[in-house]
Amino acid sequence: MLEHDVIIVGGGLAGCRAAVEIARTDPTLKIAVIAKTHPIRSHSVAAQGGIAATLKNVDATDTWEAHAFDTVKGSDYLADQDAVEILAREAPDVVIDLEHMGVLFSRLSDGRIAQRAFGGHSHNRTCYAADKTGHAILHELVNNLRRYGVCIYDEWYVMRLIVEDGEAKGVVMYRILDGHLEVVRAKAVMFATGGYGRAYNTTSNDYASTGDGLAMTALAGLPLEDMEFVQFHPTGLYPVGVLISEAVRGEGAYLINALGDRFMANYAPSRMELAPRDITSRAIAREISAGRGIHPDGSAGGAFVYLDLRHMGKEKIMSRIPFCWEEAHRLVGIDAVHQPMPVRPTIHYSMGGIPTDTNGRVRSGEGFIERFFAAGESACVSVHGANRLGSNSLLECVVYGRRTGKAIAQFVQNRKLPVVDEQPYIQAAKEQMQQLIAQNGKYRIAQIRQTFQDCMTKYCGVFRTEELMQEGLTQLEQIQQQYQEIYLDDKGDCWNTELVEALELRSLLVVGQIIMTSALHRQESRGAHCREDYSQRDDENFLKHTMAYYSPAGIDIQYRPVNISMFEPKERKY
Ligand SMILES: Cc1cc2nc3c(=O)[nH]c(=O)nc-3n(C[C@H](O)[C@H](O)[C@H](O)COP(=O)(O)OP(=O)(O)OC[C@H]3O[C@@H](n4cnc5c(N)ncnc54)[C@H](O)[C@@H]3O)c2cc1C
Repeated sequence: MLEHDVIIVGGGLAGCRAAVEIARTDPTLKIAVIAKTHPIRSHSVAAQGGIAATLKNVDATDTWEAHAFDTVKGSDYLADQDAVEILAREAPDVVIDLEHMGVLFSRLSDGRIAQRAFGGHSHNRTCYAADKTGHAILHELVNNLRRYGVCIYDEWYVMRLIVEDGEAKGVVMYRILDGHLEVVRAKAVMFATGGYGRAYNTTSNDYASTGDGLAMTALAGLPLEDMEFVQFHPTGLYPVGVLISEAVRGEGAYLINALGDRFMANYAPSRMELAPRDITSRAIAREISAGRGIHPDGSAGGAFVYLDLRHMGKEKIMSRIPFCWEEAHRLVGIDAVHQPMPVRPTIHYSMGGIPTDTNGRVRSGEGFIERFFAAGESACVSVHGANRLGSNSLLECVVYGRRTGKAIAQFVQNRKLPVVDEQPYIQAAKEQMQQLIAQNGKYRIAQIRQTFQDCMTKYCGVFRTEELMQEGLTQLEQIQQQYQEIYLDDKGDCWNTELVEALELRSLLVVGQIIMTSALHRQESRGAHCREDYSQRDDENFLKHTMAYYSPAGIDIQYRPVNISMFEPKERKY
């Protein structure tokens, strides 16, 4: 059995920032970061547009209170306001700290960090490194891990969270290289495993965003919070779904329908293209379903709208958003200097996740589960409520990664390693693997995954109804049956990515069922959760967080109150 003082599952921004903080607080601690990819290939590396902080370099009238208000309003008042206050107050400090670590932010002509406009933010407060912000930050953090001597287990797949007697004691993990299984125990376990974009058929997320950490938490009997809130980003490149950053609209691009109109004037006249993502995504979906979408030949009635940058000019496009230009050029052959880009909403972000307090401690029932922490996209602290604002997620990863790291470093002082008998866990993992390899089923993984993704997209997409979701849940049950009959071609131990995909698919199925069940129970429309059969927000009955407890017999839905310490809920208009 392996042992560390702290194990962090996830090498993205949240996991790496926490590891740096633990090492800074107590350099004697043995810290391990475990990741199924190499850390610098975590999805964080793909973040484009930037990170919000009221540095006031461009707009001297900005305040942390304004940032907090924009975030709460963007969340449709479901965010916990104590957590939002911390996010907005600590933002300038964490960004300056990143700069001191060596992150190469884009600059103003006087040398200070540049800041751009972003959807739902009332001031220009998003700091950026061109449109490769995640790349700039993650590389520097991973460099720092090496400097601090953090042990990195890269390309190990964590398959189970060990919880006994209300305590998280460690994990079971699988070395992808050769199929070797290990139990690792630790004084504290942190999950920073990112999102689940692959639960849907069109997503901006990478192939590794399969919600493993969420599924492992749920399978250990712990709750997941607000899982019905799934963010659709308005501008996924059609047809591939990869992201065209909101920075493109932040820098001035227009959304245009088949009639040539800037249709956002009808949905959010004061913010136009820079309305929050839920509103903009629904506007695009409505334009398309009303026949004002565009076909590849330019005629009306198609499945996308245009994102038009042409008026911005070549120099601005190439200096501020070169990567977005490159993506459209490489993937669909569009030269955005001269042609509009075809876009439509794409699954982007998970507002819900593992419930934590503002120090990253994981909630369960009325209290907390001992030794277990979470941060980043896999956690729900909840700063995004029902809808996240762009550039607040990288911020959440570093603010709450840092806080959680600090809390863990203090928590493990004078604590012993937990007692774990590794044998039953290794045995169970072996049996699970052997069964997958030996079974002589009739379905391929890709086939079931596609059916599942289509089911989530069709029955729990931008617009939802009870009828749709009931049907979706029935189909999910059938898909879960089919999963019992999958067939793997690769029976070996060496780099068996097919086996890993089978485990990832299991995670997706668990997460999908929780998303759909949570969505069915929320009989109102709020933020990204839009019910056609309950079209209004209902504060009287649903100004509360969903807590979903998974069991093979079914999902139990409970609720938790929202912290409202600064801003009373109001109607949300832009
Ligand atoms: C294309 C794109 C652009 C974005 N742009 C922005 C932006 O400009 N601004 C912004 O604020 N937000 C942006 N976001 C959102 C933001 O990037 C993410 O929410 C954030 O980076 C998530 O970081 P994380 O550390 O929580 O997880 P991730 O970076 O997703 O990392 C997850 C880690 O967990 C590991 N892992 C997962 N499962 C397992 C397992 N079973 N075993 C072992 N390891 C595991 C992975 O290997 C990985 O290391 C963007 C997202 C996308 C997809």
